[in-house]
Amino acid sequence: MTVLVLGSANLDLVYEVDRIPAPGETVLSRGFASFAGGKGNNQAVAAARAGAPTRFVCALGADASGDRLAAEARDAGIDLLDRRVDAPTGTAAIFVDRRGENSIVVDSGANALLTDLTAAEREAIGAADVLVLQLETPVPTVAAAVAAAKAAGTRVVLNAAPSGAVPLDLLDDVDVLVVNEHEAAELAGPGDAAAVLTARGCAVIVTLGAEGALVGVPGEEPVRVPSYTVDAVDTTGAGDTFVGAFAAALDGDPSGTGLEALVAATGFATAAAALAVQRKGAVPSIPTLEEVREFRD
Ligand code: ATP
Repeated sequence: MTVLVLGSANLDLVYEVDRIPAPGETVLSRGFASFAGGKGNNQAVAAARAGAPTRFVCALGADASGDRLAAEARDAGIDLLDRRVDAPTGTAAIFVDRRGENSIVVDSGANALLTDLTAAEREAIGAADVLVLQLETPVPTVAAAVAAAKAAGTRVVLNAAPSGAVPLDLLDDVDVLVVNEHEAAELAGPGDAAAVLTARGCAVIVTLGAEGALVGVPGEEPVRVPSYTVDAVDTTGAGDTFVGAFAAALDGDPSGTGLEALVAATGFATAAAALAVQRKGAVPSIPTLEEVREFRD
């Protein structure tokens, strides 16, 4: 049993400022910290902490940021399949003001060069039980990974984030699509997104923030899984924690992607995400399997 995550890895550079600088303005930061980030990286950490043997395919620059991200991923117990490419490691410059509003500039850097899957990467996809993808890597790479998984019988979970702007045909070979409400509307248009998307033949999980998640399977009535009522202090990374924990739960359940398996995995992911929103940050907030079990007891 293995979860293979293919996706982005960034170094998040977080500046605390009194206010976001206007064009032409320079402001002094009140504090600075850097963290491992990127949806792929966060989801791989979430799957590993949730107890799944986890591999992570990503592209990093041959630089100090790449070395740091690689070391942190390995420390998290991830089997890292990193390419070192001729571009800087991806970064996100995040300005957070006193009200908690933020402005973010992302440089995809090395992530944009995660193209043309190697034979070793295809083999790793084929050997995994669950493949997890997002849309911070080039769409042709995502499509090639989906095809490689399909050919090998690996279950595919696509998190169509940070934007649902993806060709709908990509969904034909996806087993489970995970989207938030905005991404669902972008993909399906206004109205009953779950019905439109399940009509393409894949199962759909629509996450609804504090309202939990909706699980839709083709030909069946959707099931609503409630979230846990908690004091949320920072929802950054809630979605990534959900997806990684969901994939780990699915990996532990070989029964497929029927409604029962998906509702069970969603219940687990909802608990993991409820723990994450009670702590600050993305990666630091992701809970371990023991923490999730204790929380659910
Ligand atoms: P983000 O972009 O903040 O990482 P998202 O928009 O991708 O998140 P959400 O639907 O907001 O995704 O949240 C994902 C899951 O996290 C929800 O399905 C829910 O289980 C959990 N969650 C989010 N917010 C809360 C909250 N306030 N209380 C409890 N659980 C929450």
